[in-house]
Amino acid sequence: MVEKIRTVKDVSCPFCGTLCDDLEIDVDIKTDLVVEVRNGCQIGTKKYFSSNPSDHRYMKPLIKVNGEHKEVSWDEALDKAADILVNAQRPLLYGFSSTECEAQSKGVELAEMLNALLDNTASVCHGPSLLAIQDVGASLATLGEIKNRADTIIFWGSNPVHAHPRHLSRYSDFIRGYFRTDGRNDRNIIVVDPRNTHTAQIADKYIKVNPSEDYELIQAIRAVLRGSELDVKEVSGVPIEDIKELVEELKSCNFGVVFFGMGLTQSLAHHRNVDTAIRLVAELNDYTKFILIPMRGHYNVAGANQVFTWNTGYAYSIDFSRGYPRYNPGEFSSVDLLLRDEVDASLIVASDPGSNFPAASVKNLFKHPLIVIEPHKTPTSVFADVILPAAIAGIECEGTAYRMDGVPLRLRKVKDAPGETLSDKEILEKLIEKVKEKMGE
Ligand code: SF4
Repeated sequence: MVEKIRTVKDVSCPFCGTLCDDLEIDVDIKTDLVVEVRNGCQIGTKKYFSSNPSDHRYMKPLIKVNGEHKEVSWDEALDKAADILVNAQRPLLYGFSSTECEAQSKGVELAEMLNALLDNTASVCHGPSLLAIQDVGASLATLGEIKNRADTIIFWGSNPVHAHPRHLSRYSDFIRGYFRTDGRNDRNIIVVDPRNTHTAQIADKYIKVNPSEDYELIQAIRAVLRGSELDVKEVSGVPIEDIKELVEELKSCNFGVVFFGMGLTQSLAHHRNVDTAIRLVAELNDYTKFILIPMRGHYNVAGANQVFTWNTGYAYSIDFSRGYPRYNPGEFSSVDLLLRDEVDASLIVASDPGSNFPAASVKNLFKHPLIVIEPHKTPTSVFADVILPAAIAGIECEGTAYRMDGVPLRLRKVKDAPGETLSDKEILEKLIEKVKEKMGE
C-alpha cells in the first residue's frame, strides 16, 4: 500500500511558553499540507494549520509602491530593507519572541552593526520579572519537578485555561506525578486575580484581589507569615481572616509554586510586585519548599532573553547607539521610544506590535519606514514598506527554543516552507550581508 500520510512525532509546539513537546503532526505526502494535529490544544493546533497556504500567508517578498504591496525579488526587497536600516539615525529592531534562538542571535548581530536599538516582547510582558530577578534572585525549578512534587499551586494574575491551555494537564493540575499519584486530587489550586477567570472557577480557592493592589496583598501575607498582627479588617479587598488561613495553607504544604502572569507584572507596582513575590517565596522556604515561575507567553520569549543576554549582557531594552550595549528599560524599551517618537525606522521580527502596543506608539511606528519579517498578514505587516516572508520556526524549519522554566528544547521541521519563504535566520543573514555591502564593509 502506498503511504499517503507522513507522521512526525515528539514535536515541540511553537506557540506558548509551555512548549509542549509531545505533539504528533500528520502531513499529506503529496500536497505537503498539515492534515492532522494530535495532543495540541486548540491554539497550538491552529498554528500548525495556519502554516498551510492561505490568503493570509506571505509567499513572496513585497514592497510598498504607491500605497500598494507589490511582489518583488528577494534581492530587491533586501536591498530596500538594507537601505532603510543603513540610512536611519535611530533604527529599532523589535520582536524575536516567536522565532528560534539562532535567528535571535542574528538579530543581535544586525543591531550591533547598525548601532541600533534592540528589544524583544519581554518589554511589554515579563520585563518587570527580569528586573526583579536581577534585584533579588529567584527560587526556581523545572516544570518536571512541579509535575512530580508540587501539592500547592498558586496562579497569580495568570489564566492558563486560556493562555497556556495544556499547562494544567501536563505540569500543574490534573497530571499524575511521581509523588502526586492521584493527580488533581493531590493538588491544592489557588487563584489570585481581580477577575473570576475560568482558571479561578476550577480552583480549590479563589482570592479576589482589588485591581492593581497585588503589592499590598503580598506584603500583608508576608507580615502575617512573620507573625505580625495587622490592625485592619482587610487588605486589597481580602479579609484578614482569609489571609491568615492562606498563610497556614502555604506553610503546611510539601511543595508550593507561584505561577505568575501579566496580572502581576503589568499591574501598578510592576517589578516591585514580582520583587515582593520573590521575597515571599524565599520566606516560605523557612517552612517548606516553595518556588515561583513566570508564565511566559510567546513560546521563545525566554530564549530571546537568554540569547540577548549571552550576546550583550542584557535581556531586553538595549541601545547600541554608542557602539556598545547599554540597558535601560523605560528609556530603551520600544513602547517608550515610540511614544517619544525617537525611532526613525523599524525592523519587526516575528511579532505584531500593531495589535498590542498603545495606539500613540503604533501611530509613530507607522509614521516611519517599516520592515517586517513575518509569515502572515498582521495589523503591523499591512503597514510595512517591506515584507520579508518567513518560514515558520518549529513547523517549516528547525531551531532551539527555551520553555518558561528555562529548559531549552529542539524545534522540529515537519514540512517544507511554502513559496519563496526563507527561515528568519536565513533572512537575517542575507540582510546582514546587504547591510555590510552598503556600509562598505
Ligand atoms: S499549551 Fe501552549 S505549547 Fe502546549 S499545545 Fe497549547 S499552545 Fe502549544
